[in-house]
Amino acid sequence: MKLKNLTILLTDNCNYKCSYCYQWSASGHDLDPLIAKNAVEYVLNNSNQELNITFSGGEPLLKFNLINKCVYYIKKKGEAQNKKVSFSIITNGSLINDEILEFLNDNNFDVQFSFDVYLKDEIEGKEIFNNGKSILGKLIKSKNIYLSTNTVFTPEKVDKIFYSVEFLYNEGVKDIGIGIDHTVFWNKNSLEIFREQLSKVKELVFLEYKTSRRVIVDLFDLNEPSGINTCGAAGNRLTITPDGGLWGCASFQYLDWENTTELKKNYYYGHMNDLENNNFEKRVQEVKGNYKEFKTDNFRTENNKCFLCEYLPECRICPAQKYSFMKGKRSMFHVPEQVCRMNKIIFELNKELKKEVKKIKNS
Ligand code: SF4
Ligand code: SF4
Repeated sequence: MKLKNLTILLTDNCNYKCSYCYQWSASGHDLDPLIAKNAVEYVLNNSNQELNITFSGGEPLLKFNLINKCVYYIKKKGEAQNKKVSFSIITNGSLINDEILEFLNDNNFDVQFSFDVYLKDEIEGKEIFNNGKSILGKLIKSKNIYLSTNTVFTPEKVDKIFYSVEFLYNEGVKDIGIGIDHTVFWNKNSLEIFREQLSKVKELVFLEYKTSRRVIVDLFDLNEPSGINTCGAAGNRLTITPDGGLWGCASFQYLDWENTTELKKNYYYGHMNDLENNNFEKRVQEVKGNYKEFKTDNFRTENNKCFLCEYLPECRICPAQKYSFMKGKRSMFHVPEQVCRMNKIIFELNKELKKEVKKIKNS
């Protein structure tokens, strides 16, 4: 396979325990350094000229030494093969000290900063929040780091969406992600608050767009859809889990913890030890074919078929995330009602934003 992205899950462990995070069910594995080296070698030998490596976990900075070694090795090998390699990391940031900051800056990292922990503490206390704020400030000031944030909202925290986005915006973040916890039930009231909060966010997005022509929140998108969306795991990417397993996307591994044999059979490429096996490439093609089935028009909700929906071109369904809410009870192609409702709220507000933008462009 010709790869463009490798995600390395360095550990199942994390120094925080966020309620929605699937890592709670993790088995406490750390990636074996030799397996990491073999994975990197495999990917360099099977990639395009441009390759992105993402370090994630658990909390990847618990394994900073291994990240350091991987980056050194990849740069050395990559340069010899004329490859252009970029690095990303998904982190709660709490372990970032001056040495780590310098390392991330020197290696031009894209840092996705998970803001959840700090928001929780801002409601309940101040200490961790202030620490998060100070790390955020340092990341923003680092010239070679591209910073984005992600905050996952539960029904209990849904009324903090606008507060969180406005705070990050005022701090200087220009790429703000809003995540939704679909492992719990959202009632009518929490969905209503979701709409109200997102509507306020849309106003802020519009305000910033008027001056910078930039859309700063990931749930909004002014581009016209170019076709029906498919799960990214069908693309040129590979994820290695801390136990050495190989999947199309990190989100699939926790479904495996629910012991769903269908998953193992259909979506698991194999183990790092299988790479030498002659049948591995054949297996890759089979599994890729299965991931390709996750096109939005193949999904359905309780009452509707997605291919009949007016939002079909915009809608992207993550089979792994929505499956977590259903705990493996139904087909992977069923979308829970709450996921569909929230998607529609987002698309309706995005439609309004597009209209507002069109007006200023025409004026
Ligand atoms: S908005 Fe709902 S019905 Fe429409 S494509 Fe998305 S999940 Fe399917
Ligand atoms: S849609 Fe879900 S499973 Fe597919 S690539 Fe995206 S996050 Fe991974």
